[in-house]
Amino acid sequence: MKKHNFNAGPSILPRVAVENTAKAILDFNGSGLGIMEISHRHKDFQAVVDEAVALFKELLSIPEGYQVLFLGGGASLQFCMVPYNLMNKKAAYLETGVWAKKAIKEAKLFGEVSIVASSADKNFCYVPKGFTIPADAEYFHITTNNTIYGSEIRFDMDSPVPLVADMSSDILSRPVDVSKYAIIYGGAQKNVGPAGVTFVIIKEDILGKVERPIPSMLDYRTHIKEGSLYNTPPVLPIFTLKETLKWIKELGGVKAIEKLNIEKSGLLYDAIDNSKIFVGTVAKEDRSLMNIAFVMKEAYQAKEADFMAFAQGKGMVGIKGHRSVGGFRASTYNALPKESVLALIDCMNEFEHNNA
Ligand SMILES: *Cc1c(COP(=O)(O)O)cnc(C)c1O
Repeated sequence: MKKHNFNAGPSILPRVAVENTAKAILDFNGSGLGIMEISHRHKDFQAVVDEAVALFKELLSIPEGYQVLFLGGGASLQFCMVPYNLMNKKAAYLETGVWAKKAIKEAKLFGEVSIVASSADKNFCYVPKGFTIPADAEYFHITTNNTIYGSEIRFDMDSPVPLVADMSSDILSRPVDVSKYAIIYGGAQKNVGPAGVTFVIIKEDILGKVERPIPSMLDYRTHIKEGSLYNTPPVLPIFTLKETLKWIKELGGVKAIEKLNIEKSGLLYDAIDNSKIFVGTVAKEDRSLMNIAFVMKEAYQAKEADFMAFAQGKGMVGIKGHRSVGGFRASTYNALPKESVLALIDCMNEFEHNNA
């Protein structure tokens, strides 16, 4: 049976990126050797890194003065690297979910953290608005897409201090004005590649301002100087990431992807809003295009497990909501085809027809 992969992360990748990775594992560039079995300093692998960097710059129109890095450690290591490299005394954070909280926890090891606003009061079902960013903070950190709850900041905000964004789950889902950010980072495994590689887009002139010594591996300047090859990088994930970026470019770039994402998520949100039994969990103006969270209305809640089994029987994968929200979550990342969204909607309609 055809599977419809709504996994939240690691998640669906473009088929062509997976196929090209499979080929490169067996025989990289016709060399007779697999990509996992050669030096990361081989000129053919250098070309992979160069192309991945160039594609990132092209797709997001990254301005001069920024570097693109591919590191290990996941987005979670960035929760610590950001304050390590940028914070002397004080940083500001927007608390919009569990990932934001984890970033805050690490930052507290380095100085004073000002939480400018939080949506914890309503289990993070909205994005706080009307907050003031303290002008004496060394940076302001946001999580643009809250993967667990399904809320998203889908615009590039103005900040009086350098803006740092965790874009793990919505990178390359829309055009971004990179010039408004000092750092954009994320794990690749939601929207741009497999687990194992972390992307960091960083404005070079924000570095070198902290007083503490920084261990080499945690110092962005080390990785900038060595072009992400200070130590052995995640070779294979970088290759798949590069193939994923090529796929985005061939589709027409991030503008084209955004159009598809608006269409896919719009279809599913409409189905939820028109349903007698399902209801969305996030404030409408803050709804994510990437993770669509919904539950069953009060009167039908006893049927959640039935729907889960019904949907699984129709090939739906990964639609169980995160344990802190419950219900369902459909992740509609870049690589998820519209066909899968339509299949889920059919499944919801059929279940409703049989049960409401
Ligand atoms: C998944 C996720 C993370 C954690 O990423 P790791 O690469 O596993 O460390 C951080 N932030 C957000 C928004 C995420 O969705």
